[in-house]
Amino acid sequence: MSWTAEQKMRLLFALRSKGVTDKRVLTAMESVDRGLFVQGLFADRAYDDTPLPIACGQTISQPSIVGLMTQALEVNPRDKVLELGTGSGYQAAILSQLARRVYTVERFKRLVDQSQAVFDRLGMTNITTFLSDGSHGLPEHAPFERIIVTAAAEDPPGPLLAQLGIGGIMVLPVGQSDAVQTLIRVRRTEQGYDYDELCPVRFVPLLEGLGRE
Ligand code: SAH
Repeated sequence: MSWTAEQKMRLLFALRSKGVTDKRVLTAMESVDRGLFVQGLFADRAYDDTPLPIACGQTISQPSIVGLMTQALEVNPRDKVLELGTGSGYQAAILSQLARRVYTVERFKRLVDQSQAVFDRLGMTNITTFLSDGSHGLPEHAPFERIIVTAAAEDPPGPLLAQLGIGGIMVLPVGQSDAVQTLIRVRRTEQGYDYDELCPVRFVPLLEGLGRE
């Protein structure tokens, strides 16, 4: 069963009221059923604007944060996007509607397998999933026009800055993992990197190595 018109309307209303106004982002979010990415106990809350627990002790982000991050990323249809932290796969699925290709990296095999199964079911063939420690990025596929990180690091990881193309944009939460973090946007120019702060957020930490679960 897919989501109802009423569930869709309520979610879109929540997105708009939190500042997600970009038409392309709203259309992408309207076309991806979040219920497919939330399993078990919390399935009945899939359309609430709230983060929810997923497997391996991780979380699917709050829809309005997914919307704001996607909006800040200013994705173009020809872009190749790198996502760090596949988690449920929801953010990658939204990106797949807006970008040419999405490379998404996750450190838990179970999450890679589960999200890949949903991408297959939805026919999202422009997403490639990778099981690896994403803090090193994907040098063999760089440079990327856009990079999005959905786990918090204290600073933007150096390899990711290096793999961002000139003119590229990276959106990521930075700060201590047990405190409120700041969502920042990094733009790479010919001269270097420009940073701006977007809003306070709370994400699970970016960890090293593969997950053992
Ligand atoms: N974008 C996700 C939210 C994921 S939560 C969604 O839409 O559901 C953050 C994810 O980042 C977790 O699944 C966690 O396992 C993963 N993660 C943390 N550190 C990582 C690393 N170094 N490399 C790859 N994935 C990482």
